[in-house]
Amino acid sequence: MSKELRMIEITPGRLSPGGRMTEVIESKHFKCPYCQGNGYHWQEDRYQEPYKKDCPVCQGSGKLDAVIKVEWKANENHNMEERK
Ligand SMILES: [Zn+2]
Repeated sequence: MSKELRMIEITPGRLSPGGRMTEVIESKHFKCPYCQGNGYHWQEDRYQEPYKKDCPVCQGSGKLDAVIKVEWKANENHNMEERK
């Protein structure tokens, strides 16, 4: 079975002293695994009539977005060696 593979290349790019050391990467439109992308689950009301209840995980959209936060910081080992 085919499977989509998503990759993130992590590289510091342009950073400056006192500037932002964090970045946010978004990867959107993953199929919700809880409702298989339908956005709802079948439920029965009190008269046993089936109705579509919004998926609580994706809130009815059927899709999920990933938000990846990357924080850049100085290498810790380097500072430790300097203190010796
Ligand atoms: Zn869902």
